[in-house]
Amino acid sequence: MKLIDGKKISEEIKKEIAIKTSAIIDAGGDPPHLAAILVGEDPASQTYIASKERACRAVGITSSIYRYPADISEEQLLEAVDFLNNDEEINGFIVQLPLPAHIDADKVLQRINPAKDVDGFHPINMGRLALGLPSYLPATPAGIMLMLEKEGIETEGKHCVVLGRSNIVGTPISLLMSRKSNPGNSTVTLCHSKTRNLSSITAQADILIAAIGQPGFVKADMVKEGAVVIDVGIHRIDDSSEKGYHITGDVDFNSVAPKCSYITPVPGGVGLMTIVSLLLNTFKAYNGEIYPR
Ligand code: NAP
Repeated sequence: MKLIDGKKISEEIKKEIAIKTSAIIDAGGDPPHLAAILVGEDPASQTYIASKERACRAVGITSSIYRYPADISEEQLLEAVDFLNNDEEINGFIVQLPLPAHIDADKVLQRINPAKDVDGFHPINMGRLALGLPSYLPATPAGIMLMLEKEGIETEGKHCVVLGRSNIVGTPISLLMSRKSNPGNSTVTLCHSKTRNLSSITAQADILIAAIGQPGFVKADMVKEGAVVIDVGIHRIDDSSEKGYHITGDVDFNSVAPKCSYITPVPGGVGLMTIVSLLLNTFKAYNGEIYPR
């Protein structure tokens, strides 16, 4: 079994980004600028935003956070999105999810200028993804594809089973894995809560991608000998350790790892790649690679 080291891969990519940013600054240019809108005080969102800000700082990308109280009205939030859409100094921005219940998240995401939608959640970017056209890929699926590529994992003709059909992970990764590309060219089965005989399907997977949101859900008897297992889940579990908690994934790592050819750890796997993908999308926005400026 080989552990796919998300830390090592992401650090290498971050170094490459830092070199490009330094070159821009040395040539007298302004570095790329990523902004984030954060509504309310959700602790997980605060943690994500803080780690995105740290990652930007580490590679020389400018980052700004626009914080709003949880009781901001939908109209005010849409105005905040318009402000960033029109700010020429900002190349790309994200709206951190989840949003408070009184705000229609779809409406907010659809208000983002697709050219600045570095999270890739706008219907235009999702539609382009589905058609195989250049687009900002949602960061987590893009990070998984990068991991497979960097590890040199063969995906062509393989049976890839995706657990979960969310718009941010399951659905886009299933599209990417079935694309005519490398990585890609897999035969994909997408499973969800209404899937029957789930274990018999996951047990056929050459590549199993778990994005189900249930800690330790994937057990050894659900996995084929020699499978590649990508664990997208992130769960904070309270315990009696000094820290008071530990982070775990959707896969029961200890029982599953011995059966795998490759597996991603949690933490230290997909999560780190997600942030790097966001930085890469910001660079694409800066260079006008998807939507020429
Ligand atoms: P989500 O929106 O909650 O979707 C979960 C999916 O799993 C749904 O499609 C659901 O089916 C399916 N599901 C739930 N229970 C199931 C069961 N017992 N059997 C079969 N399918 C089941 O999740 P998400 O946003 O994609 O996130 C998934 C996990 O990834 C979470 O732990 C999240 O924290 C983590 N995550 C990590 C990163 C990262 O950077 N590493 C990024 C995003 C998310 P239905 O559609 O039928 O309800």
